[in-house]
Amino acid sequence: MKDIQSCIICGTSLNSYLSTSDYFNTGEKFELKKCDTCRLLHTSPVPDSVEISRYYETEAYLSHHSAKKNLISLLYTSVRKLTLKNKLRLINSYPGNKTILDYGCGTGDFLSYCKSHNWAVTGMEPDNDARKLASDKIGEHIHSTVNDLEGAFHVITMWHVLEHVYDPIDTIKKLKDLMDSDGRLIIALPNYKSPDARYYGPHWAGYDVPRHLYHFSKEAVSQLALKTGMKIAETLPMKFDAYYVSLLSEKYIRPGEFPYLRAMRQGWSSNRKASSANNYSSLIYVLQKNL
Ligand SMILES: [Zn+2]
Repeated sequence: MKDIQSCIICGTSLNSYLSTSDYFNTGEKFELKKCDTCRLLHTSPVPDSVEISRYYETEAYLSHHSAKKNLISLLYTSVRKLTLKNKLRLINSYPGNKTILDYGCGTGDFLSYCKSHNWAVTGMEPDNDARKLASDKIGEHIHSTVNDLEGAFHVITMWHVLEHVYDPIDTIKKLKDLMDSDGRLIIALPNYKSPDARYYGPHWAGYDVPRHLYHFSKEAVSQLALKTGMKIAETLPMKFDAYYVSLLSEKYIRPGEFPYLRAMRQGWSSNRKASSANNYSSLIYVLQKNL
């Protein structure tokens, strides 16, 4: 565990922002520290790459990916189908070579869907179990790192992945080198400036400490783009996330209660409040090379 003192984007000293806990798994307490220049929040203390594995070791976290055990998982599964369609529509809106790299492809549902819609797919997933599942599902070799990759992908996606990555600057620079000149890097992230984040405070499920090492806002992503020679072409909402995140957050506040109606109301309310400033619970940033 290491205390974080300065911003990973600009080096500025960090200030206390919020205390929260690992509500999903261990109950351990963590601080969120803010850079007042970039607006990036940092989880502190931060587990190293070996220590972090035990924070993922829970059946509940796996249900994020596969099982249909309860209403939350059921909702998640049906929404995921719709989300797959929306993601495909987005990548199809960028004409060019239909080549895609999904960085952190998990169990491969998105890539499998892309492949069935005529995309040439490449996946990277560091987790051994997920990578094996993805490889079986897609029928392609899935890489454990991008270091051995070459090529010029037209689209690279990171769906709720960058917040788990230790070195976002280095990672984006590497991915930039793997894009064609008109390529798009699509990064989906929770937005701690969303109305649902403000409403739930330390119980906001989008913090998900310590698995989320960093917490982004539009300002923080702009700084990250600037630092890596990229530019933000578009910022798009992920409206379902407000409902899902509200549901988890309600469960963290009132364990054992039946918070579904309340969560749906909060999700709806968050999306309504977010529309004018495009400050949704999760945002999709579409980055291009700043040539
Ligand atoms: Zn900073």
